[in-house]
Amino acid sequence: MRKFIFILFFIPFGVKAQQDSVQIASIFEHILSAGECHDDLRVLCKDIGARLSGSPAADKAILWGFETLKSLNPDTVFLQDIEVPHWTRGNVERAVLNGKAGTKQLHICALGGAVGTKGTIEAEVIMVKEFSELEALGRDQVEGKIVFYNRALNPVLINTGAAYGGAYDQRSSGAIEAAKYGAVGTLVRSLTHALDTLPHTGAMNYEEGIDSIPAAAISTVDANYLSEQLKLDPKLKIALELSCERHPDRVQANVIAEIRGSEFPEEYILVGGHLDSWDIGEGAHDDGAGIVQSIEVLRTYMALGIKPKHSLRIVLFINEENGNRGGIGYAETVKENNEEHIAALESDSGGFSPRGFNMEGSDEQAVKVRSWAELFEPYNIHLFRRGWSGVDIRPLKNDRILLMGLVPDNQRYFDYHHSKNDVFESVHKRELELGAAAMTSLIYLLDQYAP
Ligand SMILES: [Zn+2]
Repeated sequence: MRKFIFILFFIPFGVKAQQDSVQIASIFEHILSAGECHDDLRVLCKDIGARLSGSPAADKAILWGFETLKSLNPDTVFLQDIEVPHWTRGNVERAVLNGKAGTKQLHICALGGAVGTKGTIEAEVIMVKEFSELEALGRDQVEGKIVFYNRALNPVLINTGAAYGGAYDQRSSGAIEAAKYGAVGTLVRSLTHALDTLPHTGAMNYEEGIDSIPAAAISTVDANYLSEQLKLDPKLKIALELSCERHPDRVQANVIAEIRGSEFPEEYILVGGHLDSWDIGEGAHDDGAGIVQSIEVLRTYMALGIKPKHSLRIVLFINEENGNRGGIGYAETVKENNEEHIAALESDSGGFSPRGFNMEGSDEQAVKVRSWAELFEPYNIHLFRRGWSGVDIRPLKNDRILLMGLVPDNQRYFDYHHSKNDVFESVHKRELELGAAAMTSLIYLLDQYAP
């Protein structure tokens, strides 16, 4: 019996796989017993806090990222200048419903990049769930009104990211579509499954040649209330006041640390997340978690004395939330300098328990990565599937690179995402560390086998 077990254990695992398994065990053991990513997250969330691109807090975060990476003694740490948008929320955000049932203040917040109301806009409200309804209603019924987009996230989809994607157009292009029919503003149901009074902000766009109208998110509880009130009183009005403003661009930076590869220094493996966050909450899950996990990869390499064969870059990207200029600018420089990137891993789906990884690459690369599944099995990490990698690393896509994204359990991610709830306390230390250990282990295997 003893012999049988021995064979069962060692045949699928060659000697190299056995070494990999030991290395991965030491990575998990180190991070779970001595990891510092949770302490880093506390500093980033509590001492710096919300850090929207262009804000003074984002300047502070860049400095913190630089100093923190520097303190780990990699070969180099440097900044890459990036011009970023600058938008401020201001102090006034108010929506008051006036109708037969009296007046009621609604929980709203401006969408990122939106123009302000310059005083108060008071208008009737028209509710739609699809852009096609605007076309059917026509200018007659939309002009002069506030368009209220009330399509909820689809609760049936297991992947909450897909549910978010299915409702996202209301926030990203809702103001453009409504303005085409003469609307004076938009309210968008917050992109979350949670039923609460927190509005969730996020990026929105305007189009040249189409009026830029104010746009705000409304909490799910208030969206349901407004929808009910509109049935009883279709002529009700909302008085909307937003003091947000768009300012000239500012120069901020990506923060980049590098360990030179011992065998293939001209080939790069990247791990990263985005340093900027929305301006409400503390950007803990989005994407403080990805930042401190990426830093933890470097810290663990240094602590365990792992020497990468390929050059390893840790990149703290700026401006993912409202422009992705950090990701685009990084990829442009890589191209200009002919720096061959063979793999990149991003963590930007929350600091929850890791379930596995998404990949974008060739079939051969996918087969190779899936052959490592057994190494992750002891850590309850099972998913090695094709899927979205990450906004910041996506501009690196070409025929050669393997792009990967950490996949944590995302059922609660959108409860926090872009809201006041996205604070340090909402991230669980152990789950965050498990994610960092999964990432470090994957980076180790990518470096060993360069799929
Ligand atoms: Zn993010």
